[in-house]
Amino acid sequence: MSANEKNLPSQKNTLSIGALMEGFVLDHIAAGHAMTIYRYLKLGKLDCTVAIIKNATSSKMGRKDIIKVACPVDFLDLDVLGFIDHNITVNVIKDGRIIEKKKLTLPQQVTNVINCKNPRCISSIEQGLDQVFILADPEKELYRCRYCEEKWDGVLKK
Ligand SMILES: [Zn+2]
Repeated sequence: MSANEKNLPSQKNTLSIGALMEGFVLDHIAAGHAMTIYRYLKLGKLDCTVAIIKNATSSKMGRKDIIKVACPVDFLDLDVLGFIDHNITVNVIKDGRIIEKKKLTLPQQVTNVINCKNPRCISSIEQGLDQVFILADPEKELYRCRYCEEKWDGVLKK
């Protein structure tokens, strides 16, 4: 391989991962939602470099957000991310290349990710009780509180 060939992108859709040699990249985040994802994944608590790219151009989505994290992918809670938006692409990076894409699914249950909005719910009254939501309708991506069945319309929906 000549030096010139080496500099060509090896595949279509290659992400510009910059200096990220090892970690993971969350791609195809709906534009404007990177900070919400950052908050729910508690990325601020990680002791590693996090880069947030807002309003990147995307052939698929028009505009999108991207989050790059220089941390082993084990630190990523795939259930929480799948719960927020299972259409996000998770690219695992090693030696500066994408070595794996993780598939996100809707988890059957999430614990202590969201709080029940029903003020009369036992989980709102009793302190120390886990906030548990269960997938009630996978097609509508609808979750319900385990205790009072209050529904949750999703983190990113208005
Ligand atoms: Zn409830």
